[in-house]
Amino acid sequence: MSAQNPAGGPLLHGPADPEHDPRASYALEPGYTQNLTRRILSTTGTTAPVESPLNGQPVAHVPQSSEADVREAVARARRAQEAWARTSLAERSAALLRLHDLVLDRQDEICDVIGVESGKARKDAFLELAHVALTARYYARTAHAHLDSRRVPGMFPALTHVEVHHLPKGVVGIISPWNYPFTLALCDGLPALLAGNAVVIKPDAQTMLTALLGAELLEQAGFPPEIWQVVAGPGRDIGPPLIQGVDYVCFTGSTATGKLIAGQCADRLIGCSLELGGKNPILILRDAAVEKAAEGTARASFSNAGQLCVSTERLFVADQIYDRFVERFVARTKAMTLGATLDWSVDMGTLISADQLETVTAHVEDAVAKGARVLAGGRARPDLGPYFYEPTILEGVTPDMTCFGHETFGPVVALYRFHDEADAVARANAGQYGLNGSIYSQDGGRARQLARQIKCGTVNINEGFGSTFGSLAAPMGGMRESGMGRRQGSEGILRYTDTQSVATQRGVRIGPSFGLSQEQYAKALTVSLRVLNKLGRA
Ligand code: NAD
Repeated sequence: MSAQNPAGGPLLHGPADPEHDPRASYALEPGYTQNLTRRILSTTGTTAPVESPLNGQPVAHVPQSSEADVREAVARARRAQEAWARTSLAERSAALLRLHDLVLDRQDEICDVIGVESGKARKDAFLELAHVALTARYYARTAHAHLDSRRVPGMFPALTHVEVHHLPKGVVGIISPWNYPFTLALCDGLPALLAGNAVVIKPDAQTMLTALLGAELLEQAGFPPEIWQVVAGPGRDIGPPLIQGVDYVCFTGSTATGKLIAGQCADRLIGCSLELGGKNPILILRDAAVEKAAEGTARASFSNAGQLCVSTERLFVADQIYDRFVERFVARTKAMTLGATLDWSVDMGTLISADQLETVTAHVEDAVAKGARVLAGGRARPDLGPYFYEPTILEGVTPDMTCFGHETFGPVVALYRFHDEADAVARANAGQYGLNGSIYSQDGGRARQLARQIKCGTVNINEGFGSTFGSLAAPMGGMRESGMGRRQGSEGILRYTDTQSVATQRGVRIGPSFGLSQEQYAKALTVSLRVLNKLGRA
C-alpha cells in the first residue's frame, strides 16, 4: 500500500492544494492515486478536486468524463460483453472467489482509501470490504442455482418440452453513492458480471478512488478490464447518456434522484432497480433485554455517522421499559468516541461534506426550536474536523418538525414512547418510506409475527440492520418510496437477466390434427384439460 497515512496515525497535514502550494501534500501519494484515476474513461482534460472530509486535505484531482466518453465506455463494454458472455460459469465464479480473498488480503489498503475519502471510522470501512467478500462468495457458490437453464412442465406432458434460460441483459449501468463507496460500487456489479453482463459504473464524485480501487481489484481477480468501465462526473450531466446507452440501470441514492432515473428508464422501456432512502424504525418491546437493545440501537443509529440507508432514525420504546432503556441508550451514546483518524480507535468518524453537516444541523435546530429536547449530542464538533457532528438523541419530536418524517441521513435519532404494540406498528409504518425495520424482544416467535406487519423490505430481530444486510441469500431492498427491486439473493442476480423460454413441440401440434375440425379440436382439448386437472397437474 502506498497511501501516505497508514492505519495507526491521525492525518497531520493541512488543507492547502499541492498543485498551488509546494509545501502542501496530498492525503494519498499522487503516484498511487494516478494509477487509479487512469482507469476513468476521460478525454476532457478537466479534473475535479477531491478533499478528505477528515481534515480538508487534498486527495486527488479526478479526470472528468464527457457525454461522448460515456457513450464510448458503453460501446467498449458492449464489445467486451459478447466474449465475456461466452465464458463458463465456472470461470466467472472462480474470479469471484479470487476477489473474495483479495479484498481480505488488501484490507488495510482498502480501509485507508475508504477512510481518507469518506472520513468514516475504520470499523465501518472494514464492514464494507467484508460485505464485498460475502457477496462475492455467495454468488460464486450459488451461481448454478440461480443461472442454470431448467426444464419446466410443457402444455402437454411428454409432447411439449420446455426449457427456461437466463440470458444476460448486456450492459448494466450502475450509479452509486458516497456513503458506502466500496461495497455499493462493487456488490451490485458482481452478480451482473456473473450473469454474463458488462458494467459501466458512475460512482459518486466524492468517492471515486475507492470505486477505482474496486475496479483494480476486479482486474487483479481475473475479470477482463474492458467489462468494467468507469466514468466520472456530475450525475445530472453524465447520468442521462449512461441511461441512454445501457440495457439496465442499478441505482443507489436518494429517492428524489431515483424517481428521475426511473422516468428515464421508463422512456427507454429498460428495467431498473432503485435502492433509495429510509426513515427506519426500531421497536423495543416491553420484554426486550435492555442492555442488548441499547447497544444494538446505538450501533444501528450511529454506524457510519448515521449515513447509512438502513440506519435507524426512529425509536419506539415500550412504556414499561422506557426510562431504563433511555438511561442506558443515552449513556452508551455519550460514551462514544469521535475522531479524525484512520486507525481503529474511534467509534464514529465525520460526516462526509458541508452539505451533510448543514442538513443535520438544520434538522436538529428545527426540532429544538419547536420544542424537542436533546438527550445527547446536538452539536457540531469543528474542533475535530470540518464536518464532525455528535451522535444525537432527541425526545419530544412532533409531526411539525422536519426530522419527524424526512430522512436526516445523519447521526440523529428520535425517541417515542408507546403503550400498545398495534399503535407502535402503525406509527412505525407511517410515512412514505419502507426500507428497514427492527424489533427487540426476548420472545422471538412474537417478534417474528409482528415483523410481518412492518412495511419494510427487511426486518431484523434483536439487531439493527446487520443480520439481513449480511445474509446474502436474503433479498434486500425497499417498499414504497424506499425503492424498487432487490439486491442479494436470487432477485439480486436475476434482475440482470432476461428470461427466455424455449418450447419444442413433439408429435401433435397445438392446433387441429388428424383431420379434426376446429370444433372437434376444441372438444378434444376440453377433455384433455379436464383430465390434466383431475391428475392435479399445474
Ligand atoms: P444522490 O441521489 O444525490 O446521489 C447518488 C448518486 O446519483 C451519485 O452518484 C450522484 O452523482 C448520482 N446522481 C445525482 N443526480 C443524478 C441525476 N440527475 N442523474 C443520474 N445520477 C445522478 O444521493 P446521495 O445524497 O449521494 O446519497 C444519499 C442517499 O442515498 C440517501 O437518501 C440514502 O438513504 C440513499 N442510499 C440508499 C441505499 C440503499 O441501499 N437503499 C444505500 C445507500 C444510500
